Amino acid sequence: MQTCLTCRSPFTTNAADHAFYARLEVPAPQHCVLCRRVQLMAWRNERTLYGASCQKCNRTMVSCFSPNSQLHIICPSCWWSDDFDPLLSGRDFDFSRPFFEQFWELMHATPIGALFIASSENSEYSNFAVNNKDCYMVTASDNNQDTLYADNSNGNSDSCDISFVHKGELNYDCVDLVGCYSCIGSQNLKNSNFCRYSRDLINCSDCIGCVGLRNKQYCILNRQFTKEQFEKAKEKMELQTHTGVARLMAHMYALEKKQPHKFSQNINAESCTGNYIVNSKDCRECFDMENCQDCTYSIFGDRTKDAYDIYGAPGSELVYQSVAIVESYNMQFDCLAWPGSNDVSYSFLTRGAKNSFGCVSLKKNTYCILNKQYSKEEYEKLRTRIVEHMERTGEYGQFFPLKYSPWSYNETIAQDYAPKTKEQVAALGGRWEDNLPGTFGKQTLSNIPDNITEVAASITKEILACTECERNFKVISQELKFYKQQGIPLPIKCPTCRYRARLAQRNQRQLIERQCMNEPCQNRFQTTYTKERPQIIYCETCYLSTGARGQN
Ligand SMILES: [Zn+2]
Ligand SMILES: [Zn+2]
Ligand SMILES: [Zn+2]
Ligand SMILES: [Zn+2]
Repeated sequence: MQTCLTCRSPFTTNAADHAFYARLEVPAPQHCVLCRRVQLMAWRNERTLYGASCQKCNRTMVSCFSPNSQLHIICPSCWWSDDFDPLLSGRDFDFSRPFFEQFWELMHATPIGALFIASSENSEYSNFAVNNKDCYMVTASDNNQDTLYADNSNGNSDSCDISFVHKGELNYDCVDLVGCYSCIGSQNLKNSNFCRYSRDLINCSDCIGCVGLRNKQYCILNRQFTKEQFEKAKEKMELQTHTGVARLMAHMYALEKKQPHKFSQNINAESCTGNYIVNSKDCRECFDMENCQDCTYSIFGDRTKDAYDIYGAPGSELVYQSVAIVESYNMQFDCLAWPGSNDVSYSFLTRGAKNSFGCVSLKKNTYCILNKQYSKEEYEKLRTRIVEHMERTGEYGQFFPLKYSPWSYNETIAQDYAPKTKEQVAALGGRWEDNLPGTFGKQTLSNIPDNITEVAASITKEILACTECERNFKVISQELKFYKQQGIPLPIKCPTCRYRARLAQRNQRQLIERQCMNEPCQNRFQTTYTKERPQIIYCETCYLSTGARGQN
């Protein structure tokens, strides 16, 4: 049993962990899993975007760095061009000072791309995202088209307000959907169409306020209707109004409490513990993983192999304590690497570099340290000396501390998943941004009609105020058209509060051991459902065999 250097709580490491650390020749971590994850998340500002101008070509642009950051921020096209040489800021390593301090100085002397996007078309308000077309506010999401306000979602079109939604079309305000069409206000749906305000459906269509159904059509609150009855009842529910939706949701939540839930959302996950693990094998304490193998304490893996402590490493192998590593190999303590980066440590924004250490915005360079070029022999000697130095300073083996993140804590997803106050962040050495983008008190309209049919087209010219955080927000015409067509009441909350509300529907990424609640079954499992949660939690066998599921 060890004690976390940050939060002082006890944590354990097992033999498999030590074998991995030994293989990478890194010391065992001195911080618990959750504190390590906070450090990684504090290096992921996905959604806090500012208007800025490129410090190279002067073009106006969107940037995920605050104007207060004092970094040398350039537009993505300047950053991707061959026009600047990252080695210009190269410097010698000073053995009388800590590594992180020197890295911080290098980071402030080297051009940095304003956003982390590639192959994007008409989607400049997107970040940590590739291959999006005609999208707006799409983050940590790839291959989407005509989609607004999406996060952690891939392969969608014509959708709005979605989180963790994949291969869908025309979905709105949904979380954790796969292969769905025209669904609204729902969570955990698979291959379902035209479903509204429902939970845990597979192969269903035209269901409203339903929970745990399979292969059903024309159900309301888990009751079977004929098509005609269904249409009539739907009309009466007035789902185009906030009042109608709130009334239905109250009934759906009551129904949800009575239905058994499977202990995890894992599918085809052999010898895995965690949640939302799909088609994977031997993943331990992992969340949101697809097609992964041998990953531990990791989040957001996709075709990832042999990884520990990662937050996003699509197509990568042998990765440790790193954030957003794309199709790269043997990466340790890195943030943001584009395809083909190999054997790189303690670097930020790597683009296909190999055998490098402590670099920023490196391209296809090899044998660089602090952006300075060395020969292979010099590199290997110097790297060994720096690692020894960092072992003495206590730096080696841990990811960049909060203090050295290019972002303030409340700009990053750390604030979404591990919210802290300004004082708590300061105590951890992190920074706080007092002026997050946005305005207050500038609203031109205070009463949003309850019914979408009563909303005038001129609403796109108005400034609205969020009913939760009071931040001003606007409705863009693309969005209004979507709400009108789908008969959805106009949102009264700002996009950020809507995003947070969707995240809050998901269980936290923390496991506890519990026993199946289907007495007398004695099966035990690792689940994200805490004991305080009202849901009835079953093991997989009981969940699949129970006749109770899907009946009222
Ligand atoms: Zn801790
Ligand atoms: Zn530029
Ligand atoms: Zn708000
Ligand atoms: Zn059971």
